[in-house]
Amino acid sequence: MAVPAWNEVNSGVFMNLTRNSLMTTSSLRHDWQLEEILALFQLPFNDLVFQAQTLHRQHFNPNEVQVSSLLSIKTGACPEDCGYCSQSAKHNTELEKERLLPLEEVLEKAELAKTNGSTRFCMGAAWRNPTDKNLDRVIDMIKGVKQLGMETCVTLGMLTEAQTQRLKQAGLDYYNHNLDTSPEFYGNVITTRTFQDRVDTLKHVREQGIHVCSGGILGMGENTRDRASMLQQLANLPQHPESVPINMLVQVEGTPLYGADQIDPIEFVRSIAVARILMPASYVRLSAGRHEMSDETQALCFLAGANSIFYGEKLLTTDNCETQDDQVLFQRLGIHASEIEEHNFKASACSSS
Ligand code: SF4
Repeated sequence: MAVPAWNEVNSGVFMNLTRNSLMTTSSLRHDWQLEEILALFQLPFNDLVFQAQTLHRQHFNPNEVQVSSLLSIKTGACPEDCGYCSQSAKHNTELEKERLLPLEEVLEKAELAKTNGSTRFCMGAAWRNPTDKNLDRVIDMIKGVKQLGMETCVTLGMLTEAQTQRLKQAGLDYYNHNLDTSPEFYGNVITTRTFQDRVDTLKHVREQGIHVCSGGILGMGENTRDRASMLQQLANLPQHPESVPINMLVQVEGTPLYGADQIDPIEFVRSIAVARILMPASYVRLSAGRHEMSDETQALCFLAGANSIFYGEKLLTTDNCETQDDQVLFQRLGIHASEIEEHNFKASACSSS
């Protein structure tokens, strides 16, 4: 049987083949119940991935992956205690601290990322929250990167409403702020800010009309129920995040989560598939931990609906795949990097269901 092109699938050819009628609609839901999500996790793997891929094709070109680059613009000495993070001042890691990078250096890195095919440049600073003075400098970076013709994303910790407004005025496209894990498991990972603090920051970002990038980390010792609960939190936000990074914990010696039970790669792929089903029009980003994954696991993630990655040797402070290796993998899979589009994101247009 010939495989239909991605846009042909919109015709509904595949819709009748899915078992669960919930999955046959392209409307976006914000009322997911935990038990429904757990039922998805428990589906036979092939059925789950088929549902995810079918929905994926209703919203995206399945052979296209959005590529971003991430640079740490201020490294280490963070007062927060996130148990997975090498940058916390409370953990004894061998990380070299760095002050906020000069503008020129950031723009050089952004240009290089653009040459390597990135369409979005993300900048991360290890702060609880930025001071207004630091924000001035980040705003210069945002403006500089935008002038290169790239989309911008920053992750700076918690924001006040006024700061969010300033970022919007500077032309910021995306703000990353992860929920990290389920509300139930959260206290095992972070004690210096609450789950609600995170939700509040996302609210400020959304209210200013900045696109939201928010996801979590798997493999921190949480169970399937926690994974389902975290995805439920993201999917039941008033509007789905445009970008949903799903990270696999990179264990760093000296952090409290060093030695945590690793997540089974098949369970990781299942989580990607469930994220795709819950938030069908969002970019599901394969983020930290890709370096530790086999090509085959990554290929399964793309099949399950992941359609965004980070290029570049480093992801903030942890290793990432070599750009060249990624390019070879893309070739082997017949995947290409997407061009910048004037936000082809559809969730904002249909968030009413
Ligand atoms: S994840 Fe961010 S907020 Fe948490 S310790 Fe690391 S740099 Fe600080």
